[in-house]
Amino acid sequence: MTQWDRAEIVVDLAAIRHNVRLLKELTGVALITVVKADAYGHGMLPVARTAREAGADWLAVATLDEVRALRSAGDTGPLLTWLTVPDEDYDDAIRAGVDLTAYSVGELDEIEAAVVYAGAPARVQLKVDTGLSRGGAPRADWERFFSRARAGEKAGRWEITGLWSHLACADEPEHPANHAQEQAFLDALAMAEESGLHPPLRHLANSAAALLRPSARFDAVRCGLATYGLDPAPGVPHGVDLRPAMTVRADLALVKDVAAGDGVSYGHTWTAPEATTIGLVPVGYGEGVPVAASNRAAVQVAGKRRPIRGRVCMDQLLVDLGGETPDVGSDVVLFGPPELGPTAQDWAEACETINYEIVTRIGGRLTRRYVDSERDGATTGARG
Ligand SMILES: *Cc1c(COP(=O)(O)O)cnc(C)c1O
Repeated sequence: MTQWDRAEIVVDLAAIRHNVRLLKELTGVALITVVKADAYGHGMLPVARTAREAGADWLAVATLDEVRALRSAGDTGPLLTWLTVPDEDYDDAIRAGVDLTAYSVGELDEIEAAVVYAGAPARVQLKVDTGLSRGGAPRADWERFFSRARAGEKAGRWEITGLWSHLACADEPEHPANHAQEQAFLDALAMAEESGLHPPLRHLANSAAALLRPSARFDAVRCGLATYGLDPAPGVPHGVDLRPAMTVRADLALVKDVAAGDGVSYGHTWTAPEATTIGLVPVGYGEGVPVAASNRAAVQVAGKRRPIRGRVCMDQLLVDLGGETPDVGSDVVLFGPPELGPTAQDWAEACETINYEIVTRIGGRLTRRYVDSERDGATTGARG
């Protein structure tokens, strides 16, 4: 067997560094690297360190728990958070100089109470809804929201450090919603100025817009998926050489013969049409492999593409080895960079989902191993 774990996620930090540098160069504006949800499954702390090192101007996370995890690990740089619920404990984040996001007058009221308690002014970015109909102040509230924000700023409660919004259809560059949202964002900026606010950081673009829509870049772009080297708009050409950072691999656990007519895995959803060999991969939905991959996705076993047969189980899945008998312990790549095997995008298509979900949900009992293909000459994960 190997010195490596039987089933693991391998993350190449050099790929993260490369993507961060590329995104900064390409956009020419401040880069906010999004590391929420454990950095889309890549591990928040190592990714955060690497992104800072490679020149990310900001990091962003969704929740205050994620903020606490970053700050207690020693991260001190500019940090934005955006998803809060009523009765959040803002005090630590305020003292740690984190940019909070407010969507409503009610949230500003809560932040004000926390400011009084913390004894330090807050940094607050305002989020407006320009058409996603998710978080953000709806247009009808903008005037009241901005004047409350301005009043608190005058009173020394906070500094309004940014104004931002989020696109619904950035992965479809021709979709009319993009233009409409940009126009609405410009309206919000004008209205904020009229209220006496001068938010220095205005941002609208996620990865897809950062790559495909220069008009959406404003002062900063918030890049999550592209940081990890995955394509946020599959099929739309952008010519940017992103490198996938994640490889999910395992040791082949078992090889056996099955006869024509043998049913494979629970429910016998696949029956061997002829005699073949089956390989057992010790990874299943307990590790976040979608059951939807059953009979649909493929993995790479000892360098060859092999289809998943039968239903994905909790701890394991089975592949058709086509009569061949690779050694037990052979390297299996579930997905990774295209030179190593199927990609997260291949899995997304097989499972009728998005590449975001494939990398973010993978985990469970898998361990994570970090390599750096530039510094230690390691491969991105598969056994050489
Ligand atoms: C997750 C998220 C992003 C990052 O989106 P990507 O498409 O991964 O670049 C940016 N902004 C907000 C508000 C988000 O929730």
